[in-house]
Amino acid sequence: MIAKEIRQAFLDFFAEKGHTIVPSAPIVVKNDPTLMFTNAGMNQFKDIFLGEAPAKAPRVADTQRCLRVSGKHNDLEEVGIDTYHHTMFEMLGNWSFGDYFKKEAIDWSWELLTKVYGLDKDRLYVTYFEGDSKEGLEKDTETLNLWKQYVADDHILPGNKKDNFWEMGETGPCGPCSEIHFDSRPDNERAEVDGATLVNADHDQVIEIWNNVFMQFNRVKDGSLHPLPAKHVDTGMGFERLVRVLQGKSSNYDTDVFQGMIQFIAEKSGKKYNSAAKPGDADWNDAVAMRVMADHIRAISFAIADGQLPASNKAGYVIRRILRRAVRYSYQTLGFKEPFFNELVPLLAEQFKGVFDELYSQKDFVQKVIKEEEVAFLRTLSVGIRRFENYFIEDGGVSVADYSGELNDFISDRWDYSVDRSNNKVAGAFAFELSDTYGFPIDLTELMAREKGFSVNIEDYNTALQEQKTRSRAATAIDTGDWIQLKDDDSVEFTGYDETETVAHIIKYRKV
Ligand code: ATP
Ligand code: MG
Ligand code: MG
Ligand code: MG
Repeated sequence: MIAKEIRQAFLDFFAEKGHTIVPSAPIVVKNDPTLMFTNAGMNQFKDIFLGEAPAKAPRVADTQRCLRVSGKHNDLEEVGIDTYHHTMFEMLGNWSFGDYFKKEAIDWSWELLTKVYGLDKDRLYVTYFEGDSKEGLEKDTETLNLWKQYVADDHILPGNKKDNFWEMGETGPCGPCSEIHFDSRPDNERAEVDGATLVNADHDQVIEIWNNVFMQFNRVKDGSLHPLPAKHVDTGMGFERLVRVLQGKSSNYDTDVFQGMIQFIAEKSGKKYNSAAKPGDADWNDAVAMRVMADHIRAISFAIADGQLPASNKAGYVIRRILRRAVRYSYQTLGFKEPFFNELVPLLAEQFKGVFDELYSQKDFVQKVIKEEEVAFLRTLSVGIRRFENYFIEDGGVSVADYSGELNDFISDRWDYSVDRSNNKVAGAFAFELSDTYGFPIDLTELMAREKGFSVNIEDYNTALQEQKTRSRAATAIDTGDWIQLKDDDSVEFTGYDETETVAHIIKYRKV
């Protein structure tokens, strides 16, 4: 099955089980101070679980575009290095709002995976909550017994509170969950080490594909739990991971979700993509760079299409940081000296046509925004990289005297600017210079340092940054971003961009 068919089969399956198929919410969250980006399918239903809004239908299912690059869920550092964490991914989900509960959820997830998709039962592992006596939480025997109908005992694993008990926050709905993992190792490796021992070991061939959450308690202020009058089901399955196991691949990037983009990048860079490259291999860096680009373009494009332009603060800066990270790989590792990253947008838009049309309908605008960002960053990137490389040259390297930024006095007076070779640390003041003068987000400098076996003195960096903020706050009272910021006003809804030929991008709002 190709990816499109796999997605459709999920939606059709749950539609047939009486679920209303709803559209994905935007990836950009407005009006929720606790969340910048949608990071799970349940986000858009939060008010229903909290009892603050009625459910429009008792059973729904969808594919939700998610972004995990900030806050509680931040997978950014794994992306490109491992084979199954993305910045933007689709979470397939089915929900019951006070309707069906554990039995149906478990029966259907098993039916879908083994009958509809035909996954090998022998390679599936499931988990249940083992209980926590200190917290007064009981073992979830109901889930355990339901799984016993289908799954051999040695493929059913207990899990602790951290992995198998879900809570929305300090108070609110919560309950046990049950994860489904898939072991895609070759037979000889499976014969050597049992899959059960690898389920929670971050093994990249034994991966979590689906999580079923059973909300049955409400935690109140004093910490005690009370049964919820209406119990809910909230599930999330990683679409790209599902496609990978169904297509028999050992990496999400080897599926048709990513291969079109990876091959395009490979062809244009004149390099080959080697999925099997290991750290230390000559083609490892190229492989990471291609994966990062193919991944990040999705996060950035959907963020822009959903109303979040790259900017110099808040959510917009998260997007700019991801974009610059990708452009650095594109420029330095793959050798694209001219803006190229933006050329992935048409491919991506085509791929999501009929799935998330928000991108297709705004593709020219999205590409243009990314290109402008690339042009701007490429202006300082090469000089910054040169300066970064020189920084590590003993004696002949850079010194604070070369720094011409506004903090010169501040840095030279109070900060050691030299490489700390006994601790393999880059001076915080130097990291600050890279961000201040060349626009290197701190996590990019950290990444580049890591590639050399160094870390950054973050405490000093933060102090320098704080100092600069204090100065600029004193200098100007108005915060002027690079782009027009979206309003945090809940009476309007973002509906798309109107483009003009000038720098000003007019954002369309509709009163709701
Ligand atoms: P993991 O342990 O692999 O990080 P998780 O437990 O954080 O996953 P959940 O919050 O349970 O993930 O989300 C539900 C499903 O979404 C997971 O079972 C997985 O298939 C998928 N998923 C989670 N994070 C990512 C990601 N960064 N990229 C792709 N898929 C993901
Ligand atoms: Mg995770
Ligand atoms: Mg997990
Ligand atoms: Mg999970």
